Amino acid sequence: MQDLRSLTHAELERFASETLGEPRFRADQLFQWIHAHGALDFGAMTNLSVALRERLAQVARLDTLVVDAVAESRDGTRKLRLLAHDGAAIESVLIPDEDKLTQCISSQVGCALDCRFCATAKLGFKRNLSPGEIVDQIYRARALLSEISPSRRVTNLVYMGMGEPLHNYENVVKSLRILNHDLGAKISLRRITVSTAGLVPAIEKLGTEDVRPNLAISLNATTDEVRGLVMPINKKWNIARLLQAVRAFPLERRRRITFEYVLLEGVNDSLEDAARLAQHLRGMPCKVNLIPWNPHPLSSYRRPTPLAVERFQNEVKRLGLPTYLRTPRGDDIDAACGQLAARAKR
Ligand code: SAH
Repeated sequence: MQDLRSLTHAELERFASETLGEPRFRADQLFQWIHAHGALDFGAMTNLSVALRERLAQVARLDTLVVDAVAESRDGTRKLRLLAHDGAAIESVLIPDEDKLTQCISSQVGCALDCRFCATAKLGFKRNLSPGEIVDQIYRARALLSEISPSRRVTNLVYMGMGEPLHNYENVVKSLRILNHDLGAKISLRRITVSTAGLVPAIEKLGTEDVRPNLAISLNATTDEVRGLVMPINKKWNIARLLQAVRAFPLERRRRITFEYVLLEGVNDSLEDAARLAQHLRGMPCKVNLIPWNPHPLSSYRRPTPLAVERFQNEVKRLGLPTYLRTPRGDDIDAACGQLAARAKR
């Protein structure tokens, strides 16, 4: 049985004609129900005949995530725990910031990378999310918002939740295609950012796609020695190789690359690091997001003091890079950056 939420519009057209023997415009109707209206089942699709809806129920599925828990932080951040059809738990976070509302979405259950400071890494890798499971995080959040906060809509999407998006390349690109489609949620690619730990061949491939999101790179260190320690992926593609791929990534006018830099006390927060960071990124259209490390029990790094963070930021700024401080959001509900690691329901 085919999960229809995971099909791109083109795939759905093929399904409509080949499996259902229906005209192509059926695909438009199905796609709208699934991706514009967030339909939960075929029964809801009232402009399709009852016979067709019954047929659909026999040959296809419409997998939907179930909102299992919603935690709300003092600062307004909300963390959604979502269950997939096989019981796998993933997390997605809604982060309000003035007139923006950013949703952080997951791309995998667990993660195969081994970044030493990250809570998701400790889960190990369970499986990839399907395209349907990626996009449904957005539809479930929409449904929730329409109940609790009807005036707010998600304005930005970041693939910075659980998992390494570029390790689930095909499904992530399909999810972009689905979200961007005119008959669906119609989300502009300018409002979508995919974040990677630095999988160079996948970055190069992403640069050739017709659906190309904004790119964020988790840099997190300025020497190969330190980066290799905190992010073992650096042994496969080192900083020079990574930055070479990033420089070649095609950017639309006035777009820039985001570099994330998790600050770890005594590891990567010296003024020499600040200088090397500026050196590495010189001349690139980019900005740097500094993220003071968010503690979790499975890792023994420390967050630098506010003074050390400020010194680092001022130095990077002084050297000419636009630099923003990511203050911890939702840390009281374990929803802050890198803390997502849904525990199985007991
Ligand atoms: N795998 C992707 C996306 C998920 S991680 C990537 O590496 O980009 C999203 C961001 O959270 C990354 O920039 C990562 O460096 C950061 N991060 C992970 N654990 C963190 C922690 N405990 N505190 C602060 N940031 C963290």
